[in-house]
Amino acid sequence: CGIVGYLGSHQAAPLLLEGLGRLEHRGYDSAGVAVLGASGIKVAKRAGRVRDLSDELPKRFAGKVGIGHTRWATHGPANDTNAHPHVDSKQRVAVVHNGIIDNAAALRDELGEAGVDLVSDTDTEVLAHLIGRSEADTLEAKVAEALGRIEGTYGVAVLHVDFPDRIVVARNGSPLIIGVGDKEMHVASDLAALVRYTTTVAHLDDGEMATVTATGFTTYRLEATGLSATNRRAARVD
Ligand code: GLU
Repeated sequence: CGIVGYLGSHQAAPLLLEGLGRLEHRGYDSAGVAVLGASGIKVAKRAGRVRDLSDELPKRFAGKVGIGHTRWATHGPANDTNAHPHVDSKQRVAVVHNGIIDNAAALRDELGEAGVDLVSDTDTEVLAHLIGRSEADTLEAKVAEALGRIEGTYGVAVLHVDFPDRIVVARNGSPLIIGVGDKEMHVASDLAALVRYTTTVAHLDDGEMATVTATGFTTYRLEATGLSATNRRAARVD
């Protein structure tokens, strides 16, 4: 339903919660955040309101990179386990996803046969495992490979412990916006979550992916043969 992300010089968790609060008008049943810090990826998520999540969010969620989500359940009931972010078995990857993965059942079976322990009922969890198991060298290539296996719609944001300087985002049928701040960057599925921080934004097209770091972003088109640069620039919206 709603996606936010942050990279910069501030602590990510409070900014992510604030951004999620600004998406409340869209409606949701669960909320969660993942923060990447010195000790890896930490996840807090639960069914209920963003406010309940902030009451519970441990102070030790230190880290300047993070993603957050408000869920409107399509696959699996609204409960704490099914809330996003979803992680791979080693908690080295965290994913938030808007949309529906049509071939999730087949991918869940395939991962199960490969020995992966799926912990949630969601379609989204397969993405975390596919990215975690990819042997590609870059996070962009891992995410592209995983998305290449997916049939359906997505806006996604991905964290990986081996690539702590970036968030990779992609869009196919579900909005994804990059916001350029003052020495910090934001991502969101809705302008409402960004306008407090910046009005300089770039909207991804369907079939586009982006690498977002604290200082800027690079866009690519997802193609069967790999990734090709699209050189999208941010523009002011007033
Ligand atoms: N299909 C996903 C789920 O049920 C994402 C739903 C959403 O867009 O919030 O978890």
